[in-house]
Parts: sequence; C-alpha cells; structure tokens
Amino acid sequence: MILLDGKETAATIRAEIKEETTGLEAKYGRKPGLAVVLVGEDPASQVYVRNKERACEDCGIKSIPHRLENASQLELEGLIHKLNNDVTVDGILVQLPLPEGLDSQKILDLIDPDKDVDGFHPVNVGKMSLGIPGFKPCTPAGVINLLKRYDLDPACKKAVVIGRSNIVGKPLAMMLSQSGPCANATVTLCHSRTADLKAECLEADFVFAAIGVPNFVTADMVKEGAVVVDVGINRTDEGLAGDCDFDALKDKVHAITPVPGGVGPMTIAQLMVNTLEAFKMHVGA
Ligand code: NDP
Repeated sequence: MILLDGKETAATIRAEIKEETTGLEAKYGRKPGLAVVLVGEDPASQVYVRNKERACEDCGIKSIPHRLENASQLELEGLIHKLNNDVTVDGILVQLPLPEGLDSQKILDLIDPDKDVDGFHPVNVGKMSLGIPGFKPCTPAGVINLLKRYDLDPACKKAVVIGRSNIVGKPLAMMLSQSGPCANATVTLCHSRTADLKAECLEADFVFAAIGVPNFVTADMVKEGAVVVDVGINRTDEGLAGDCDFDALKDKVHAITPVPGGVGPMTIAQLMVNTLEAFKMHVGA
C-alpha cells in the first residue's frame, strides 16, 4: 500500500516555492503578497488562518492579515475594494465560513478574479469549466497535484467523487474529467441522493471522498487495489477523522491518503502555488 503523504509532498512544494521566491524582492521590489481576511472568532477558522500565515512565511510570501472581530457587510465589501486596488496584494483569501448575517457569495464575487487565489470567483469557476487558465480551487487542485507527485494517473480509469460542494466535489469532478495531465478519467459524481452509492464506488479505480461524515467510506465499498483520496476533516470526540475508514481500507487499496497529513497540507501548498502565480501575472514575470 502506498501512503499518499500530503505533509511531505506539501513540504517539498513549499521548498520549491521558497526557492522561486528567493530573489523576487530584489528583482521586483516586493515579495508576493497574500491578504488573509478573517472575520469573527470561529476556532477552526483561526487554526486554518494561522496555518496559512505560517505557510506564507515558509514560502517567502508576505502574509497581510486582516483580522476583524466583527464587520458589517458594507465594511467587508469596503475592505475587499481596498485590497483589490492595493498593488502589493497579489492574492485575497476570505476565510469561510463568514459569521451569520454576512453574504459570502457577494463578498467572493467582489474579489478581483486576478487576485482570487481560492478560485471561488464565478469568472474562475467558468474558466475552469471551459478548461482555460485561471485560478483553481485549492483543495481539488491540491488533490490532483498529490496524484501527480505519486504518478497516479486517473486517465482512462473510473473515478467516483462523493460530495458535490462548490469548493471540493464539483470542481474535483470537473478537473478529473477534463483532458490534460492527471485527468481524462470517467467520472461519476455522487451525493446524498445517489441511488446506490456502494455499487458506484465498487466500480471505481479512484474514490474521492468529500462528504463530511467520519469514516463513511468502509472497506466493503471499495474494490481491491483502488486509490482512495480522503478529503474529509471531521472533528470527533476521538480527534480528527477523515471520511474514510483508513484502518479498514489500508490493506485493501493500492494507495490512500491519511487524515491528518493527506489532502489538508496539499490545500495550503496549493494556495501558495496560486499566490505565486498571481504575483507572476501581476509583475509580468
Ligand atoms: P459539504 O457539506 O459542502 O458537502 C458535502 C457533500 O457530501 C454534499 O454534496 C452531500 O450531498 C454529500 N453527502 C453528505 N452525506 C452524504 C451521504 N450520506 N451520502 C452521500 N453523499 C453525502 O462539504 P465540503 O465539500 O465543504 O467538505 C467535505 C469534507 O471535506 C468535510 O469533512 C470538510 O471538513 C472537508 N474539507 C477538507 C478540506 C481540506 O483541505 N482537506 C477543504 C475543504 C473541506 P448533498 O449535496 O446531496 O447534500
């Protein structure tokens, strides 16, 4: 069994980015800059933001924090406008979920698509669906990157994606089904209304779980020798759990991601990749 070590792979990617960013300041007069906007005091969001800031530091990217205890819709919109117009800001990340009462979609729609390093803006979603260059959402792009690094090519294979969220499942299904490197799979996108999920999964050479239910994917749902990618991060009384029953699956599959240490670190590494891309676009490198 191959353990798809996202932690180690992400560290390699971060080191590659660090190497690339070294010298950028001397050449362009500034480092790549990522504005990180956090509203409210959600503990999980605070951890995510801290990890992203730490990754920036590691990669030679300037993190520009905007921590707001509370903010009105209008204040937040004003901040996005300011960041859109700030030439030292290459990427804008608004940590989700926003506190109740704030319209997340409206905020995301205001971000300049050229600074939308999370890849959530409709312009970038549209570009992705057309298969033209644009920012891709970090989690699915990180998943594809992890497969690439382990030479696990889903081309001509059957893939099942469980979960159809706009940030993970849907874009991941789209990326896997497109032409290009580490793609060309025949994809089935499953969700809570799928008639026979087990039967769909048993057909799959690659199973991607983005459900949000601890240990949902069990050994009897996956065929021998499949590749299993677990996107889930679930907080349980026993600690963090993925969407897949790792212990039961590990002896049956060809490759599997652990939780933690699988897709999570790849998501953050991809954010760094996207920010560096944004910088290059802005300075014309
Ligand atoms: P959402 O809650 O937005 O979507 C969950 C999806 O799973 C929905 O499409 C839902 O179907 C489907 N689903 C739920 N229950 C079932 C079921 N019993 N059978 C089949 N499908 C089901 O979640 P996200 O996509 O945002 O996140 C999924 C998981 O990934 C979470 O654990 C989250 O914490 C984690 N995550 C991890 C990231 C990382 O960096 N590793 C980043 C983002 C998320 P329906 O649409 O029909 O309701």
